[in-house]
Amino acid sequence: MSRPVTRLLFREDSYLLSFRGRIVDVRPADHPYLFVALDRTAFFPEGGGQPWDTGWIRIDPSIDPSDDPDVRFGVDQVLEGPGGPWHRLALPPGSGVAAREAWARPESLPGRQILGQVDPVRRTDHVQHHGGQHLLSEVLWKTRGIATLAFHLGDGDAAIEVSADRLSREELDALEDEVNDRIRRGGPVRTFVTDLQTARGLPLRRPPPPEDPVRIVEIVGLGMAACCGTHPDDLSRIGLLRITEAERIRGRLRLHFLCGRRAFLAARSDLQAAGEAAARMSGPVARLPALVDGLRSQVRTREAEAAEVLAELARLRIGQALAAIGEAEGPRILSLPLEDIRRMDLYGDTAMAMAAGTDLAAVVLAAEDRDGIRFQVRRTGPAAGGPDLRGLMKELAAVRPIRGGGSPDRVQGIHVLEGMSAGALADLLRQACARFIGRWGPGSASGA
Ligand SMILES: [Zn+2]
Repeated sequence: MSRPVTRLLFREDSYLLSFRGRIVDVRPADHPYLFVALDRTAFFPEGGGQPWDTGWIRIDPSIDPSDDPDVRFGVDQVLEGPGGPWHRLALPPGSGVAAREAWARPESLPGRQILGQVDPVRRTDHVQHHGGQHLLSEVLWKTRGIATLAFHLGDGDAAIEVSADRLSREELDALEDEVNDRIRRGGPVRTFVTDLQTARGLPLRRPPPPEDPVRIVEIVGLGMAACCGTHPDDLSRIGLLRITEAERIRGRLRLHFLCGRRAFLAARSDLQAAGEAAARMSGPVARLPALVDGLRSQVRTREAEAAEVLAELARLRIGQALAAIGEAEGPRILSLPLEDIRRMDLYGDTAMAMAAGTDLAAVVLAAEDRDGIRFQVRRTGPAAGGPDLRGLMKELAAVRPIRGGGSPDRVQGIHVLEGMSAGALADLLRQACARFIGRWGPGSASGA
């Protein structure tokens, strides 16, 4: 689709947010959107790591706004295309008659005058972050020889990937100080356009892209780079730059940062959260790390004490259960229902340790879980050469709603039928296990 090349007002003045122009082309987009191209625009399309501008476009701005305040379309996306940016328009809900008529006949739009308004908060945020990125990259390059390899600006934060393996906390603090000193002092940021030949002779931070002419952004007295984005005209307008995280990724360092109002708001909310945490621990913010360390140490001590008490309780309960096993014929089996599924391994391990040197043949444990009764059956004696408990599982699964598996000397599973208690299942498994092990003898089929 050929059309006149759009004049890019954002390249001439980053602070121009309101402009007049004319629609020169229209093309359909997925419902409920339309794309339009303008003869001139202040809307920055996506490019160079910087997201697009948003805002609105009013059609036929000569109409008195009070007559029909709704001949206005939201601009929610701006994409680079052949000839210049395409603006994706949306018809706001509750739009007036004139707006709906214009919308219904997009072929009537080319040639009509518009008034464009870029969202000032979003643009200012992008200008501050883009300016912050140039400053950070130039300082890294000029004072530390560290190159910037990529830049990304998102809704959460901005980040650059740099050619360094790591930077210590002290180095990051020094870098942040140096950048913010320059922001406080201020200094001009100049933008100019030159031919590619001249650009190749300039002391650019990176080689210019193979396009002619080339747009150059210069932090006067510090350095210059080829760039198409929107920049502040003075370093002081960046406001503030905070490096929030240094992340190692693919052998590079990714420096996350925030600028301007976003940096201020994030710092305020971080400080408020730290203040609330400190207040709950009855101490000042500065002592928060020490208070947290103290709390964690207390928790570790309590956890160790609780583990000792639980282990002692397990030994006592297993001892009582062992003493209560009757003198019935057949192999001696310990079966124990548990109140807490999380103690299954503790009880299993303890019982197996206490069974060593006795004639106990197996341990059966069962505990209620969300979807049924979970159980474990463990056999004493050598892992190989005894009865294979997987055979027991197979027999049980044939007659009961049981799923599970394991190894020859240890199986676990779940019984999934309502109305069964952990105690009843433990008892049922004990009897089945006794029969199964009782059938086995060296030379029998299951032990071969
Ligand atoms: Zn730039």
